[in-house]
Amino acid sequence: MVVQIPSVADAADLLAGREVVVLSGAGLSTDSGIPDYRGPDSPPRSPMTYQEFVSGFAAQQRYWARSHLGWRTMGGALPNDGHRAVARLQSAGAVVGVITQNVDGLHQAAGSEQVVDLHGRIDTVLCLRCGERSSRAVLDERLGQANPGFTDRGFVELAPDGDAVLSDVSGFHLVPCAVCGGALKPDVVFFGESVPRERVERCYAMVAQARAMLVVGSSLTLQSGLRFVRRARELDLPVVIVNRGPTRGDPLADLHVDAGCSQVLSELAAELGVRAGA
Ligand SMILES: [Zn+2]
Repeated sequence: MVVQIPSVADAADLLAGREVVVLSGAGLSTDSGIPDYRGPDSPPRSPMTYQEFVSGFAAQQRYWARSHLGWRTMGGALPNDGHRAVARLQSAGAVVGVITQNVDGLHQAAGSEQVVDLHGRIDTVLCLRCGERSSRAVLDERLGQANPGFTDRGFVELAPDGDAVLSDVSGFHLVPCAVCGGALKPDVVFFGESVPRERVERCYAMVAQARAMLVVGSSLTLQSGLRFVRRARELDLPVVIVNRGPTRGDPLADLHVDAGCSQVLSELAAELGVRAGA
């Protein structure tokens, strides 16, 4: 029996001439140095849940101490060829919108517009009391001033939510909301927390306006992303998945290219007639 391995050319055939909505996940940002904790080679991790975070000072101290270290890497991450290929496809009119499960802002950094940050942005901070949104970079400076020498501890393992693995956080000082003194949370959707309804509706609207869906770098483990693939299927849109390893969306997809995002997206953009620098 001959097993046909779907190629980039097959994917291009399905997507050509259609307005595509992109749904991206952590696998797209691994080439930017942000690890994918659901990828095939990742160690098992349990990220902090929303309930744990809001439980009080100890959990928040642990989160912010780790995250303050993780920010060294997360804050300096740059878009890769995959993000750039999506942006080129978008400026050529082939991609009409991007739904991303990533919180790193790298689609926008690569020049994409019409991006819905489904799970929020790690570069933004939210006050749990007054709702004020503020800059993570500014908070990082304040945390640095409140904890001199803390970041000299050397290597830490970084997680995609900006968290980092660190055991001793005792003595780490938190800083409060500059407006009201309330507790601060990164403006990202934690496990156990719902995506705001209005944001979900914007994504559904984007899917409804598209003529095809391209999933990149997501194993679609969470219903949070999988529901948009279901909707695309209901609307009879062709669905192409580019991901290393199987995904929960495979039974819904027309094609699954089992390979890395940066390379496949660059090739796909070329196949669709959009080349670098064009
Ligand atoms: Zn506040």
